[in-house]
Amino acid sequence: MSEKTFAELGLSPAVLEAVRTVGYEIPTPIQAQAIPALLEGHHLLGVAQTGTGKTAAFAMPLLSRIDADDLSPQILVLTPTRELAIQVAEAFTTYASGFKQLHVLPIYGGADFAPQLKALQRGAQVIVGTPGRLLDHLRRGRLKLDNIKALVLDEADEMLRMGFIDDVESILAATPDSCQRALFSATMPPAIARVANTYLSDATQVKIESETRTVERISQYVLPTFGDRKLDALTRILEVEPIDAAIIFVRTKAETTMLSEKLAARGHSVAPLNGDLNQRQREQTVEDLKRGKKDIIVATDVAARGLDVSRVSHVINYDVPYDSEAYIHRVGRTGRAGRSGKAILLVTPRERSWLKTLERATNSPMESYELPTPAALQKLRQEQFESQLLGFTEDGKVAKAMGLLDDIAERNDIDMAMLAGALACWMESAQPGTLPLETPSALPVPSANAPKGKGGPGGKRGNFRKGGPGGKPGGYRGNKPGGKPGGKRDGGFKPAGKR
Ligand code: AMP
Repeated sequence: MSEKTFAELGLSPAVLEAVRTVGYEIPTPIQAQAIPALLEGHHLLGVAQTGTGKTAAFAMPLLSRIDADDLSPQILVLTPTRELAIQVAEAFTTYASGFKQLHVLPIYGGADFAPQLKALQRGAQVIVGTPGRLLDHLRRGRLKLDNIKALVLDEADEMLRMGFIDDVESILAATPDSCQRALFSATMPPAIARVANTYLSDATQVKIESETRTVERISQYVLPTFGDRKLDALTRILEVEPIDAAIIFVRTKAETTMLSEKLAARGHSVAPLNGDLNQRQREQTVEDLKRGKKDIIVATDVAARGLDVSRVSHVINYDVPYDSEAYIHRVGRTGRAGRSGKAILLVTPRERSWLKTLERATNSPMESYELPTPAALQKLRQEQFESQLLGFTEDGKVAKAMGLLDDIAERNDIDMAMLAGALACWMESAQPGTLPLETPSALPVPSANAPKGKGGPGGKRGNFRKGGPGGKPGGYRGNKPGGKPGGKRDGGFKPAGKR
């Protein structure tokens, strides 16, 4: 991670305001390198993949240089897919939240021309689009590039792979010579290198690389998941893993708090750790983890730097790291003091290419993490319910409670099993999810093939292997011997008054 702050990189006040709002703590490595170069007006050649923070690396400095009073297109971003165009346009809108009037317009194929045309006529300073549709508007004279100050080619290798390179070159040729240019690509095939040589001479080059380091004693797993199912996946991991203590890594300060709250609501003993906490609060949080007052910390990279707590058995990368250096720091929070550790990485289809990078950087393969089947999960939940219930048979109040229930049973002429069932239903209505009555549904898993509109050169991405060492990934937590009643897992029954 970079040591410089966003303010020290020289971004404009309006953009810095947006950085504060979005809650980024510190620039990612690609941002630390690219932002100053783009602010100085250089062309930029960035070898970086999704997840490095590359969108902000070009959006923030280019927005810092924009003339917000002029409504003509000033920044043009080319993306290979409609999905990426929307994503990049959303990112621009986020980073432009500090401007009074800044319009970002996504333009892509497969959508109606009319609304795009209207929006173009209204005026937008930032246009993000796919090459074919942009060229269409350009040829019909609806898109004017005379005032374009900066052009970005995002995921250039993907545009090449999808056959857009000629369209890209036509658009490049239509932009003013004075226009600043940036090209981002995960790989540098010859055709892209040629485009770079022709249109980005003397470009500043930024590359995210890091030396290989072995991560000893840490078994690494990867779980492919959809972005909107990450919380469900995490909840199940926490349910089945034999966790002593865990650190969950996310990207933003806001996310540390949001995720902590969600996990706390599911019965976990969890605290956020982020740069908004003062030194004393941070120390207290780490101390709580050490002493077992908390079992999970949801942290950003910055906040968890150097954290050394030997009972951390698991590191869960809820969000992918910005680079392999950050990944190595993160997973190094487990496997401390000679113990073994487990690191689990959640990846969405777009982030799959991280796998190879991380495997290379750590010099060890990642095994595919498999969540338990619904039936196995249901069995586990029933066992845990049973164990927790049995734990209460030793409760000091059990004799009195039995007397009360006996009395009720006798007066109403119903048997104790019926009363126990009614009591369980009462418990469920007070704390939904307590009773494991329904088998959970299976979580949808992305296929191992390249996602639609994505996929690396040569097509095959993903590289997911089946089955980890030890056969049963997950190593179900099962019943903790002597499991305390009111334990911490999702749905753990806590007696009234002890919640
Ligand atoms: P990208 O590589 O541009 O697709 O960005 C990946 C993710 O990183 C996005 O969700 C961004 O919101 C997030 N991100 C970008 N820069 C930072 C930063 N400096 N700190 C935290 N998160 C960031």
